[in-house]
Amino acid sequence: MNRHRFLRVLGQDPERWAARHDIESFTHPCQECGRMLTTSVPFVYGTLRGLIAPTCVCGNEVTPYCVVRDARFGDLFTGGALSENRSRTVR
Ligand SMILES: [Zn+2]
Repeated sequence: MNRHRFLRVLGQDPERWAARHDIESFTHPCQECGRMLTTSVPFVYGTLRGLIAPTCVCGNEVTPYCVVRDARFGDLFTGGALSENRSRTVR
């Protein structure tokens, strides 16, 4: 996954975004400086929805993130996924 292709969702409240997509935010130390980074910026990547920590004050861009699959595209783990074509149908 290329983090530079994550589309930041501006104007979304991170807590509501997390609740809507059932994403669990977490905090993890920066790999470079050890400051705590919290996944707090909503983003979209294809059929995935996630939260990524903003760039660290030390300049490290390789920050933690978490993703889930948008429920509209089916469950990734149970195999209940709709085909890509059907999933684009607006219901
Ligand atoms: Zn840092």
